[in-house]
Amino acid sequence: MGYGDEIMVTGEARRRQEAGDPRPVAVLDRHGTPRRHPLWAGNPRIATPEAVARGLDVQTIVNGPGCRPYIDYGRTTATCWAYTNWRATPGELYDIERRKPQDYVIVEPHIKAKASPNKDWGWERWQALVGRLDLDWVQLGPPSTRLLDGVRHIETATFLAACRALTGARAAVLPEGGPHHAAAALGVPAVVIFGAMTSPANTGYDLHVNLYEPADGTSPCGMRVPCGHCARAMARIEPETVASHLEQLL
Ligand SMILES: [Zn+2]
Repeated sequence: MGYGDEIMVTGEARRRQEAGDPRPVAVLDRHGTPRRHPLWAGNPRIATPEAVARGLDVQTIVNGPGCRPYIDYGRTTATCWAYTNWRATPGELYDIERRKPQDYVIVEPHIKAKASPNKDWGWERWQALVGRLDLDWVQLGPPSTRLLDGVRHIETATFLAACRALTGARAAVLPEGGPHHAAAALGVPAVVIFGAMTSPANTGYDLHVNLYEPADGTSPCGMRVPCGHCARAMARIEPETVASHLEQLL
């Protein structure tokens, strides 16, 4: 919940227009009030609240905190998300200055502080992945970022700065979250470690390699607290497998 969600909004706006309704999209919160977000800066598909107030002819979507389209709020509990059948489509980031293509490959071993712990592949597996391939490995983040051995650090103070750095990457290996939504929006090839808490059927993209390993082969568990099923799923995603998927992308 956060940047990734707001990038998914831009994908939904694009899908609406490409489906045949050319009107700008007003993004409404759960009370029906038009929203804005810094990641939508320069996006011609999304109507600003000011434009809506002026009477611009818009189409609307409801998407914001407490009303994300992939969450089934009626069945969600304090410890467990439930999901709808909604699927993300690649978003757009108009306000990102693009870097020239470079040789580095981004890894992101951290998940954001409020994310479900079940999105964490585990430090040792990230380290094993980096050790398997001789690449110009890069981690992004502020100066205090804990780094894997064998990676160099491109300091990025903000999410937008990290997006700029992503545009120069050959590829990335990412947990499910904001960075993988940004990679999809920016067209960066990636291997995305899903595990079993969320499914690529909701928040995945066809242009990525999505590693999803639920025990029953279908349903994400949605657990927001540590889950053995998710831990086993992460253990089934071997660093060797991730490395071989990554090599296919390079
Ligand atoms: Zn689980």
